[in-house]
Amino acid sequence: MAIRIVGGGLAGCEAAWQAASRGVPVTLYEMRPVRPTAVHKTDRLAELVCSNSFRGDKLDNAVGLLKEEMRRLDSLVMRAAEASRVPAGAALAVDRERFADIITQTLSSHPLVTIVRQEIASIPASSEREPVIVATGPLTSEALSADLARIVGAEHLYFYDAISPIVLAESIDRSKVFRQSRWDRSLRAGVRLKPDTTEDTTTERSDGMRRPADADSGRPAEADSGSVRLQPDPLSCGIDDGEGDYLNCPLTRDEYEAFYKALTSAESATVHDFDKERFFEGCLPIEVMAHRGADTLRFGPMKPVGLTDPRTGREPYAAVQLRQDNLAGDHFSLVGFQTQIKWGEQARVLRLIPGLESAEFVRFGMVHRNTYVNGPTVLAETWQVRARPTLFFAGQMSGVEGYVESAASGLLAGINAAALAQGRAVSAPPRTTAIGALAYYASHANPAHYEPSNITFGIIQALDPSTMPGGGPAPRGKKLRNIALSERALRDLAVWQARPEGRALHLSAVGDGL
Ligand SMILES: Cc1cc2nc3c(=O)[nH]c(=O)nc-3n(C[C@H](O)[C@H](O)[C@H](O)COP(=O)(O)OP(=O)(O)OC[C@H]3O[C@@H](n4cnc5c(N)ncnc54)[C@H](O)[C@@H]3O)c2cc1C
Repeated sequence: MAIRIVGGGLAGCEAAWQAASRGVPVTLYEMRPVRPTAVHKTDRLAELVCSNSFRGDKLDNAVGLLKEEMRRLDSLVMRAAEASRVPAGAALAVDRERFADIITQTLSSHPLVTIVRQEIASIPASSEREPVIVATGPLTSEALSADLARIVGAEHLYFYDAISPIVLAESIDRSKVFRQSRWDRSLRAGVRLKPDTTEDTTTERSDGMRRPADADSGRPAEADSGSVRLQPDPLSCGIDDGEGDYLNCPLTRDEYEAFYKALTSAESATVHDFDKERFFEGCLPIEVMAHRGADTLRFGPMKPVGLTDPRTGREPYAAVQLRQDNLAGDHFSLVGFQTQIKWGEQARVLRLIPGLESAEFVRFGMVHRNTYVNGPTVLAETWQVRARPTLFFAGQMSGVEGYVESAASGLLAGINAAALAQGRAVSAPPRTTAIGALAYYASHANPAHYEPSNITFGIIQALDPSTMPGGGPAPRGKKLRNIALSERALRDLAVWQARPEGRALHLSAVGDGL
């Protein structure tokens, strides 16, 4: 009985701790410092590669709930974060060196953990008594990436995130934009999306990150919206008349030229080694397209064909399309606008687009290396690979986003790998908990549009008024509703923790049943 874990980042370390705490010997393979990555700077385990923030720490905030659940599951990452906490208002931020030191020392001195500094180039053999967890992160080494592609299928493994900016719906100037589908072809056959907090029948989301820009970390911060379901709604977005799937920002020739000039002179973000690699033609940054010629964008993401500006009755000179990005309808993404321009510059340049002069950015555009699998195709909610249940994926490469989410997936993978090794049943907390909802999202979202996700209340099962203490109704108001969701999550987590831990299900149940 033993577990091998590849990758000593947040997910791998948490998984190692959970398994070793349950009495299972662990070998943890970490390739640094033998083989560095493009962004890690030290040889420490659980190095935070960028921000030192674990984001919000209150229960009216989904990542706050996720952290509280992790604390209750005795998370090493949470212990180390508390012990290295620095002042950061309502957020949990850490002294990154102290944080990584605590984790490195705790695991190095654990009698059941052996740390091997070695690059693993192919996925190790696994069995019921000796399961393997792969948690090699967004910068998984090339050799292992190639082996992963062999195991999950190259079409289910992604290497880049090409992310378009997202703006808050309420910050779009509706007097300047018009709603229409190109050639009046609707993508959704007349069905509109409307928030509904009474029941969660949603099994898919297209939004990866619902977070307004966070000045502290420089990365997007979280702003949850309520749980939602699909239902017909002719008035989904403020004053919109419900016709057409896109909001279109029309540009005159002068406006286009001013935008083009600003775009081609804007400063790009720092390029890491991996960014020098060739871009896929299908996800070229807009500034790269713009440098190919003054009109390239007008034949690409800014093409006006098939659109008629109702104010002029004519096709605009150019147009930017905004697509609803979350079911709640409060976020819109700029279609085809992936970009590497510095975030401050992005705001300046994109606000030249008519209708976006006062846009508030939920997320800025990015193109960066990010190795991850198509979770819903590959994984079960226990973080086991469906086609090979003695193998687990965890962390960012399993298709979640963010430090806390990566550690949370490692936590559950560690618990389940230990269960498997000890001949006990694997399981996942219910979808009413943040940790269960994240696992469910990563294994059940729509595979056709899968994007790594942060935890948000939107993916946690909505409140059922009939189960509210005292018989309901569900509280009105986002903050109260979120707190009620958190209280229910912590109650349900306690029930899951107290579950009888029976014999392991026959492994084929995982492979076949999901
Ligand atoms: C440039 C960049 C900036 C980011 N900034 C943030 C941020 O500010 N906030 C945030 O929440 N998230 C951020 N992320 C996402 C972040 O990477 C994850 O949230 C988190 O680090 C993922 O944890 P992990 O354990 O999955 O991967 P990691 O923490 O990256 O750990 C994976 C480990 O596996 C090792 N490894 C890789 N391949 C092999 C191999 N073949 N053999 C052995 N070991 C191997 C690596 O050396 C690494 O130590 C950023 C990602 C990138 C790429």
